[in-house]
Amino acid sequence: MFDIYGGPVFGMARQQFLQAADILEIPTDQRDRLLYPKRAIAVTCPIHRDDGSTVVYEGYRVQHHLSLGPAKGGVRFSPHVDIGEVAALSLWMSWKCALMNLPYGGAKGGVRVDPYSLSPKELEALSRRFMQELIPFVGPHVDVMAPDIGTNEQVMAWFMDTYSNDAGQTVTEIVTGKPVSCGGTVGRREATGRGVTHTIVRAAEEINLNLAQSTAVIQGFGNVGSVAANELHALGVKILAISDHTAAYHDPKGLNIPEIIDYVSKHGVLKGYSSECLTDPNAILTIKCDVLVPAAVERVITEEIANKIECRILAEAANGPTTLEADAVFAKRPEVFIIPDILCNSGGVTVSYFEWVQDLQQFFWEEEEIISRMKKIMDKGFYDTVKSAKELKVSNRMAATCAGLRRVNAAKQARGLFP
Ligand code: GLU
Repeated sequence: MFDIYGGPVFGMARQQFLQAADILEIPTDQRDRLLYPKRAIAVTCPIHRDDGSTVVYEGYRVQHHLSLGPAKGGVRFSPHVDIGEVAALSLWMSWKCALMNLPYGGAKGGVRVDPYSLSPKELEALSRRFMQELIPFVGPHVDVMAPDIGTNEQVMAWFMDTYSNDAGQTVTEIVTGKPVSCGGTVGRREATGRGVTHTIVRAAEEINLNLAQSTAVIQGFGNVGSVAANELHALGVKILAISDHTAAYHDPKGLNIPEIIDYVSKHGVLKGYSSECLTDPNAILTIKCDVLVPAAVERVITEEIANKIECRILAEAANGPTTLEADAVFAKRPEVFIIPDILCNSGGVTVSYFEWVQDLQQFFWEEEEIISRMKKIMDKGFYDTVKSAKELKVSNRMAATCAGLRRVNAAKQARGLFP
């Protein structure tokens, strides 16, 4: 049954779900209802290339559940996207939103394309076509998209404009992560990286680590990794190594993060910044440091890497960076404090929620209010997770997943099964 969600990423999300369902003693016959996505939509997106030829890209949107409100989650443009991966990411969005008590179900979308291979005109055509194909299945109270890997504020503006043209009116609340100039919120672009740093601050308090004298390594230097690097640097953390898909740098004396951010804002990628501290991108996760931040893609921390990691805090800024086999290793390495992805990177969707609320009300808040409300929501998620991990004697990941799953299950049970 449900063979379409094949592949290792969905397999991993499924196993995590089953472990949590066991802990919560959810009856076997109730599980498939909670596990499998409510809807999975596959679309074909044809566009004209600049040379006049026509090319077709495959796209997906998976809505895991709508029991707590609209489905919510990002859209990624990546050459590796498949429906199993998108479905897994939609499950993680569900547990994340429920853990943070946001009135959403989880969703995720993806287009199988290398966005860097497209011209700006082609990227606009593809973004518009993807939204156009999904108009019958989304809406401000049905499914609200946001940025993820390979998409950004501009793509969200095109999504919003395409939907609004069809509706005959401006519908800013159809997507979040838009530019501030057209209904976006201040603080959304920085939110995920800021939230990652905030959970690191809390984790450091838990394990008595003085961040101002600590070191960090960050894999991924996109919107999440670069903001987290900047925030950690501002707290006095020495950033030993960073990487993106084009280059990796390591300097035991600490990298000049403001200078690197300035370089990336001009050149788009890390490549070309320096020839002196270049290092092997595959080796950076095992550099000895206090705080390790995987902020790129899923399943990078394998069993082998988990055995070699030398950090005190593993801050999962990416979605699903740690495999099941690696988690089994960490079960025997309690000296590594894991901030699970659905907690660590939840600042993004939390501020997306604020953007949606502000758009619905057409009443906008100051950045200070955004940041302090975000921290309050994340603190509750953090302390709930740590407390229940101790009580249930489970990992932080299981505690966070159980908290999310418990809320989704409670809503489904209370609402009953229709008809
Ligand atoms: N793509 C982000 C995530 O994985 C943000 C989702 C959103 O803001 O809806 O959490």
